Amino acid sequence: MALKPVITTQVRPISFKGLFSKTEPEQDSKLVLTQDNLFHPLSASPIKELRDRAAIINKYGVCPVCDNDGHEHHHPVFECPDCGYPTHCSKDHYLEGRDAHQHVCSILRQQNEDDHDLRSGRTMTEFEFPSSQSFDETVNMGNWDVYFYTRSFPSMDSDRSMRHVSKLLTYPATVASVLHESSPYQFGKEVTVEGIRSISALRATLYPKNEVIKNGVNLIRSEMINIFIVGARAEASLPPHIWLQLAYLFPRSPFHIHFVGPDALPPNATPYTTSVNERLMFTYDNSYYHDYHEKIEKFDPYTDLFFFFSPGIGHDAARDGWKPTIQKALETKCAMFLTGYDQSDMGNDVEAVEQDYSGEFDYVIHPTENVFRSLKHDTNLMDLRQNIFANWGIWAIRGKRYDVTAQDSED
Ligand SMILES: [Zn+2]
Ligand SMILES: [Zn+2]
Repeated sequence: MALKPVITTQVRPISFKGLFSKTEPEQDSKLVLTQDNLFHPLSASPIKELRDRAAIINKYGVCPVCDNDGHEHHHPVFECPDCGYPTHCSKDHYLEGRDAHQHVCSILRQQNEDDHDLRSGRTMTEFEFPSSQSFDETVNMGNWDVYFYTRSFPSMDSDRSMRHVSKLLTYPATVASVLHESSPYQFGKEVTVEGIRSISALRATLYPKNEVIKNGVNLIRSEMINIFIVGARAEASLPPHIWLQLAYLFPRSPFHIHFVGPDALPPNATPYTTSVNERLMFTYDNSYYHDYHEKIEKFDPYTDLFFFFSPGIGHDAARDGWKPTIQKALETKCAMFLTGYDQSDMGNDVEAVEQDYSGEFDYVIHPTENVFRSLKHDTNLMDLRQNIFANWGIWAIRGKRYDVTAQDSED
């Protein structure tokens, strides 16, 4: 199913705080819903947050039958008995649009039960994440299953648990998956010749045991790895301990994660830097990246990298606005990783970058499906037909090195 690339900014989740909030009086840390009682029409849900969700859809949503017929638009107030979402403006339009709704209905039904489960008050053992790994622990980043297994996560014994946890961990796990030595992305397949150089440079810093001595100079470093998360939104609102899972995978390296962009902090908040422990620092700054860039003294492809989570560079409204930022990032020659929330979203960004920066960049990783995407759908409440997976696809580029010949002879 191809999703229309419209209203895209509303699709992405804004905040994860609700998942960890213990303040909602209704929840009061006691069981409110048993496992055999997770489905409720949203408007009649025992959870206020989900009743509010119904109200938001009632107010801002679109009835797909009105939409297709070019009728006057009425908001969806009729709740589908199978998924419990207000999907259509009336029973008549529900019956008329029922077939077209079938595919989305099963996704919404799953979401209804998942979201009631999250707020059911049961002990969420799947969120009891493992702590630091020992230096000789071997972790495999081949896919979610082996990652959970080799990192000794509490047993992920249901698809539902996998969906809950992957939605939170997709951000740190996606970063880790490109840097880790057991990365699922292989040289000669997704990773290009230029790409393996960029990634090897970063791994030389991340894995200092692999001694690299070139012309008598020891390239082992213990510097901070800087991850610039540009245009940060949902990922900036993740609880800091979620990012610890990235640091645990590289027990020798300190990390500084820079969340930069207008949505990295609430409006009018002051930028700040904090740390969880001696190996993990965060800076939150709501400047535009091209302004933040000026505060950084120097960039080094051995220690610095960029992540753009679903930037939407290819969307008309955003394309020009991205230019100063992309230009600055390309100039650093550091690897720039990008994700997209579905095939067309990623395709739009790839096409825009190819058109706007032709000849200025090399591919590091060809566009491919992200092994560590969220397994949980995110739904656009303004249009329930739009369902995406956070970080569905991944690709990476790097500013072209004009000294490539000299580098070649060195290598
Ligand atoms: Zn209608
Ligand atoms: Zn339905």
